[in-house]
Amino acid sequence: MRRNDEKSLAEFRERLLQWYDGEQRDLPWRKTSDPYAIWISEVMLQQTQVKTVLGYFSRFMEAFPDIPALARASQQEVLKIWEGLGYYARARNLHKAAQYLVEHHEGRMPESYEALQQIPGIGEYTAAAIASIAFGERRAVMDGNVRRVICRLFRFEEEVHSQSALKTLQDFADRLLAPEHPGDFNQAMMELGATICTPRKPKCLLCPVVAYCRAHHELEDPAMLPVQRRKKAVPHYQVAVGIIWDEGYIFIDRRQENGMLGGLWEFPGGKIEDGESAQEAVKREIKEELNLNIEVGDFYMEVRHAYSHFKITMHVYHCLYKGGEPRLTAAVDWRWVKPDELRFYPFAAATQKVIRRLEAEFCNQPERRRSAGRG
Ligand code: SF4
Repeated sequence: MRRNDEKSLAEFRERLLQWYDGEQRDLPWRKTSDPYAIWISEVMLQQTQVKTVLGYFSRFMEAFPDIPALARASQQEVLKIWEGLGYYARARNLHKAAQYLVEHHEGRMPESYEALQQIPGIGEYTAAAIASIAFGERRAVMDGNVRRVICRLFRFEEEVHSQSALKTLQDFADRLLAPEHPGDFNQAMMELGATICTPRKPKCLLCPVVAYCRAHHELEDPAMLPVQRRKKAVPHYQVAVGIIWDEGYIFIDRRQENGMLGGLWEFPGGKIEDGESAQEAVKREIKEELNLNIEVGDFYMEVRHAYSHFKITMHVYHCLYKGGEPRLTAAVDWRWVKPDELRFYPFAAATQKVIRRLEAEFCNQPERRRSAGRG
């Protein structure tokens, strides 16, 4: 693609829009111009695949059909619906932003890119997506899919995350944008990146804009682009947690709002230190962070989980409560709950695997609950 050839640009836009018109996937957020629904879908789609988002999107919209409904909900209700989708700051920020919109904009989305960016948690990308798709504003979006397509179309061979590279790519995107159909054009670029111009093995033979693609015509393999920073090795932590039992009840605590998995509930525990066994780590963490005395019982299960920047292996133990009043140092709340009440609380994905097994084994089986944790 040569950036200053007006005729090519016009043809490029037409081909892309025609392709999008005929080939776009049937997705619920494409059937609406409701800026709220578009906002929710865009936030959910950040870092998450479409097939995962589909179910969450419909449940979220059913639970909170508009901005005032989201603003009225408690943070725990919002996190419960979001449970398992990951990157929980997104849910907390959506909730806060809905409250801001009720307070400052009568519960409606403002209609310009500039005003959208004033909303807490809405950055350039989301503002451009809402402004173009819901309000027809001429703003080119730049997400990972669009960035990849543009790098290949223009054969852009610099590392893509530097400030100057991002600015150049945004200039390319602004130039390409179809001025009469900015929303459809943006969605078409994202769709092309998601379905045809994929990170590995792009399907160039099916690509509607292959004629304009420099990477396809000039490089041995267009998948060499974009040029990425070399990734750091992902650390892997060993974590030990305790299911603390007392008379058929289980102790859970809620994490601080800020930070990783903020606002979610958990079984207490923490990282295993060098030279320490998993059982010792459970006992130490629970004493240090909650002031509870426990007896560590049977090993229950191991859960492996990959978060965005690290991996964990979680070693889970049944434990028996031996005394002590909860004193919170890292957590902000705590409860004793029955196993069949765990489902009412939002937990992280790794802990949900433990909960599913607990529910299968301990719900509606009171005789087993009484003996759990005693080894
Ligand atoms: S021709 Fe291939 S590399 Fe170029 S935009 Fe299309 S799918 Fe991507």
